[in-house]
Amino acid sequence: MVPLRISFFNRSVYDLLPSNANLVRWGKKEDPSCPLCQDRQTTEHVLSSCKVALSQGRYTWRHNRVLQELASVISTAEGKIHLSVFTTEGGVENGKQGRSQ
Ligand SMILES: [Zn+2]
Repeated sequence: MVPLRISFFNRSVYDLLPSNANLVRWGKKEDPSCPLCQDRQTTEHVLSSCKVALSQGRYTWRHNRVLQELASVISTAEGKIHLSVFTTEGGVENGKQGRSQ
């Protein structure tokens, strides 16, 4: 999975993901519009600028899914880390340390 994530990251940075705008540029499609809002669908638009996706909470859902994945990975890492979403500054919550040895 890590190589795929690195590939996705690189293609997003260099605007090489198959957004509708890129598919038009590459001669694979004729319409660059976003199926949700009809604006031009660039990589930036897909990842953070679509007003309809924002109004429907899609970015929040994606954000929360990333956090859930991170929490899953951290919680299974040798059983040494206790994840607490809401901790005080310094990682202390209710007298408990955020990490244990
Ligand atoms: Zn859109």
